[in-house]
Amino acid sequence: MKHNFGAGPCILPQEVFKEAAAAVLDFNGLSILEVSHRSADFVKVMEEARENVKKALNVPEGYTVLFLQGGASLGFLIAAYNLAGEHKRGAYINTGTWATNAIKEGVNAGLEAVSIASSEDKGFNYIPEFDEIPEDIDFLHYTSNNTIVGTQFKSIPETNVPLICDMSSDIFSQPIDVSKFDLIYAGAQKNLGPAGATLYIVKDSILGKSSLNIPSYLDLAIHAKKDSMFNTPPVFSVFVSNLNLKHMLKNGGVEEMGRKNKAKADLLYGEIDSNPNFEGTTEVKDRSLMNVTFRLTDDSKKERFDKLWNDGNIIGLKGHRSVGGYRASMYNALELKSVQALVDIMKSL
Ligand code: PMP
Repeated sequence: MKHNFGAGPCILPQEVFKEAAAAVLDFNGLSILEVSHRSADFVKVMEEARENVKKALNVPEGYTVLFLQGGASLGFLIAAYNLAGEHKRGAYINTGTWATNAIKEGVNAGLEAVSIASSEDKGFNYIPEFDEIPEDIDFLHYTSNNTIVGTQFKSIPETNVPLICDMSSDIFSQPIDVSKFDLIYAGAQKNLGPAGATLYIVKDSILGKSSLNIPSYLDLAIHAKKDSMFNTPPVFSVFVSNLNLKHMLKNGGVEEMGRKNKAKADLLYGEIDSNPNFEGTTEVKDRSLMNVTFRLTDDSKKERFDKLWNDGNIIGLKGHRSVGGYRASMYNALELKSVQALVDIMKSL
């Protein structure tokens, strides 16, 4: 069995893999891969998945949950289109590659994208502060967890404009107060399910209010009206996401995920900080609980360390090419014993 520290697509619980595999062969007499998305059986799955997201995140009344396609990369554009208001200006917090891409897509949607805070000066290794949102802004967009550099917001930015968040890499990893947001979006392939679906949680009161002419697929109001069935949804990804949501709810929900994720992060950061062979790459206060980035203090030990973890059945530890070093992604389904296996290897260097 391999310890999968990959940044995504991520590991899911073994039980979920087994149930998903069984449904490929038999889902009420058909394969889940061939079933019509309009069949009563699948419509029920879609409804359940949307409900289970609401249960898992304690989503208040007045929000709609959607499973669409295109990944968070299309989400950047969908967010800008749907939240564009009279000013046609969005504020962005630039915390790395994905936030930078969100800014680009804001511009592609025809908006002026104002970067109100950025940590680019230090290679995005911290979460920047901001004073005030300028006047004449339609929304504030941020990325709650920065998968590549390994930083994470520890609190929700305070603002009086509509708030959008790309939660691709930390959704379902801990409780969140959904009522603070007008739009949350996340690719499924981190903590939710297999790649293919993208989750949207949208405040109903913003639907249909955009100042832009929105192409149909990008219009969340159309998807909401069609109960997330405007076109063929990513059937298998939604099906497995629902299995995973049920599994999560049965096993203590996001509160328990939060406790486990904190314990895993404490264990690994503890080793990084106490072992002279390693150092963290981000500011301590902004460290991500999901993606732990670190490097060797002496590069001459690289060959030996790489052999040790490869021999130890660890995969996906290589840092993103833009950061270098190592990145241990520790999504919900990664067990503490896998982190312990990595820590033991680090101790043995
Ligand atoms: N935002 C974040 C925070 C991500 O981690 C990723 C993917 N790693 C993306 C956006 C892009 O997502 P996708 O590949 O689903 O388009």
